[in-house]
Amino acid sequence: MSTSQNQQIQILKAASSKINEVDFDNVTFGSVFTDHLFECDYIQGAWQTPTIKPYAPFLLDPSARVFHYGQAVFEGMKAYKDTNDSIWLFRPDENYKRFNKSAVRMAMPEVPETIFMEGLNELLKLDQAWIKKGLGNSLYIRPFMIATGSGVMASPSDNYKFMILLSPAKAYYSGEVKVLIAEHYSRAANGGIGAAKAAGNYAAQFYPTSLANQAGFQQVIWTDDATHTMLEEAGTMNVFFRINDTLFTAPTSERILDGITRKSLIEIAQKEGIAVSVRPVLVSELVAAAKDGSLKEIFGAGTAAVVNPIAGFSYQEVYYELPKTENSYASLLKEKLTNIQNKLAEDSFGWTVKV
Ligand SMILES: *Cc1c(COP(=O)(O)O)cnc(C)c1O
Repeated sequence: MSTSQNQQIQILKAASSKINEVDFDNVTFGSVFTDHLFECDYIQGAWQTPTIKPYAPFLLDPSARVFHYGQAVFEGMKAYKDTNDSIWLFRPDENYKRFNKSAVRMAMPEVPETIFMEGLNELLKLDQAWIKKGLGNSLYIRPFMIATGSGVMASPSDNYKFMILLSPAKAYYSGEVKVLIAEHYSRAANGGIGAAKAAGNYAAQFYPTSLANQAGFQQVIWTDDATHTMLEEAGTMNVFFRINDTLFTAPTSERILDGITRKSLIEIAQKEGIAVSVRPVLVSELVAAAKDGSLKEIFGAGTAAVVNPIAGFSYQEVYYELPKTENSYASLLKEKLTNIQNKLAEDSFGWTVKV
């Protein structure tokens, strides 16, 4: 047995870099990819030679199961560069564990830790010029796995492809976000796949979200599928509510994705002396708090935008505008978290891992 896993990664370097063609200050999130990608195929029960190669399209059989039955899972994480040009990941073990949890739920093989982590580390080292320094700048990391086995029989595939893509990201301000509280559509259901980062969850959100967009709202706040009385997630983010000086967020469940940003913000808030209450939050409570003025803030939490403040919400055709808040928890928590991630503040939690 070889002890050095990275010797086993086959590396094919790109003939030239595309980096000079990229306007890093104006890059649209998720639209540009680095020179290389990581790939490892799973064929008939065995992981094949992991490979790093130039980013390029690839061929699949038209009957590949991913196209017909949607066996596809992914992760979203980020790499950061500190002032000494060292590269850091934020809680990568959490993304790795969640990736395999998603894979198991979709009847897909678990990716071995060495393949995931060594592949990611080697890829980041090779494309490190694409990571820009400074608060909010990062390289977005997209590990994913698809069912590549051919045949339209409705059963899990024998073959899979695991890949990691890298995409430069800058700090972004999403603008004023107004949300619609879901009264009919659902993102997830008990016993379903809401707790997995499955591609199909996103497909299921697009249509209700486009209806919300047509009505003038940027996002949907998802409620529980059975009663539509409990507030669960905002778009593809976890969601926090500040009522008076307490921060509320729903406990994770079969319907709610266990977000790493969410759990990190809970810990940071507690360290800052902010009262945090993790319990189901009712739509009726939110409406009452908006009416009596005790509702101070709503914000989404996720890797891509980190914290996304919400300006107001609509429920049963009534729009409730949130007040402008000084000493906003959203800004405080975002600043604390991004400072830790970008290595601009001490990481007393031990969340950052050097590449
Ligand atoms: C990815 C995701 C989140 C956020 O998770 P993070 O680990 O914080 O990025 C929240 N909700 C849904 C539905 C997601 O897919």
